[in-house]
Formats: sequence, structure tokens, C-alpha cells
Amino acid sequence: MILTKQYRCVHSSSCQCTKGHLSEDVIFLVFRQLNWNPKLIAALSCVCKWFDDLAKRVLWKEFCKTRALKMMLDLQSCGSHSVDGNWRALGKLLIYCSGCSGGRLFNSIQIPGHFVYRTRFSRTSGKSFLLPHCRTDVLYVSDPCEHLDQGDDGDVGFFRGVFKSFMVSKVRRMLINRGAQLHPTAVCPYCKAKMWNMLQANMVPLTASCKLGAYEDSIEYYVCLNGHMLGICTLLPLSDSEEASESE
Ligand SMILES: [Zn+2]
Ligand SMILES: [Zn+2]
Repeated sequence: MILTKQYRCVHSSSCQCTKGHLSEDVIFLVFRQLNWNPKLIAALSCVCKWFDDLAKRVLWKEFCKTRALKMMLDLQSCGSHSVDGNWRALGKLLIYCSGCSGGRLFNSIQIPGHFVYRTRFSRTSGKSFLLPHCRTDVLYVSDPCEHLDQGDDGDVGFFRGVFKSFMVSKVRRMLINRGAQLHPTAVCPYCKAKMWNMLQANMVPLTASCKLGAYEDSIEYYVCLNGHMLGICTLLPLSDSEEASESE
């Protein structure tokens, strides 16, 4: 009797699982065997609120740890057991280049998003996106995605990133002190929170375009209330950026 009660979905009246759920331990083992396959985790989340909760609390966390262990340990090293936003948002950030499909950001350019097999996120690169006054913040930023498999002309680069402990970061404090405005309609593609326009807040350092190999005045990015970052730039032709790096 007790077991039946334990496994029955009690979180959602719309749940179809009338015979009760598998236990959390079994699901954990099955998904470990599946190497935390993100498509299957996403599919499971749709079943009912109980699965969705389990996915957010456990499965996406394991997914993140498997795909980017060092970064995850760092993001959690201040002692919190969760991350800003949630694990699903972070999992999506790791594998999904969002493009700008909403048509609200980046001059309403419409370029669809896509899944990426593996992206390198770098804390060192992140420093280039912080004003000198904010360099003690920790920000991980990806290499620019040229979005080539999406049939674009190739000079547009998308990048994304995440702050550690954004709630207590200097960037957030500066945004608030400067009275930066949140975008009225657009939301973060990863966690659905509102976003600040860093260009408008005058907080995009020149070092960011150097790091990306992009034209100085072409770079623009947003940071959401949970510290996810989303940006676009126009990449320099490869030959130019090669020359630039040789002359360094
Ligand atoms: Zn892309
Ligand atoms: Zn977000």
C-alpha cells in the first residue's frame, strides 16, 4: 500500500500515469545508461509534472555535469546546490544555439536556432566581455557559432554564456545602478526571464570584439535576470583575423 502511494503522481491532476510511476532511482539508472540523452529527458518532461520536476531537479543536472564537469563544479563552488535559473535552462544553453528567432532582438533579424553537438565555453574568454571594474565576476562564454549548417552567409556569429552567481555579480549591480532598462518584450530563450541590453547600458568592452574576431561596432549582447548571455556579432573575414593574431 505504502509503495503504491509513493509512486502515484500526486502533483498533477492531468497526469495519465494511473498505474503509478517508476521510482526515482530506476529512472536515474535508466538515464545514466542513456548517457542523459537530452532529447529523451525533454520527452520525459512532457509526460507529467512529476517527471518534469524530476528532470529539472536531477536529470538535467546530471546532463550538465556529464557534458561540462569543470564548468559545473565552478558554477556551484560558492556552495549553492542549484544554479541561477535552473538546470534545464543551463542544459539547453550547453547544446542549443538560439539564433534570433523571436524577431525582437538584434534589429529583428530572423535566424532560426539549432542544436550543436559540442560547444567550448571558456572562463578566460568571458573576461573579455567584462568591463575592467567587473573583471572579478565569473562569466563563461562560447566560441562564436557561424551557424553554417543553417544556410546563412556565414559572417554572422552567435555566442552565448552564463555568469556564476549572477545575483551577487558586479555586472548586475552596475546594470541596476545605471538604471538599465529590461527589453520590454523579449525573453531569454533558455529560462524565459527578461533581458538587459548590454550595448544600451554601455557595458560592452572593446576587448569583446577582439576576442570574437568581429567588427568593433557589430557586437551586441543581452544578459537575462538569471545571468544567461546571448549575443550576435559580424565576424571578420578569416584572413583579416589571422593577420591580426599574427601581429599580436
Ligand atoms: Zn549557431
Ligand atoms: Zn536566462
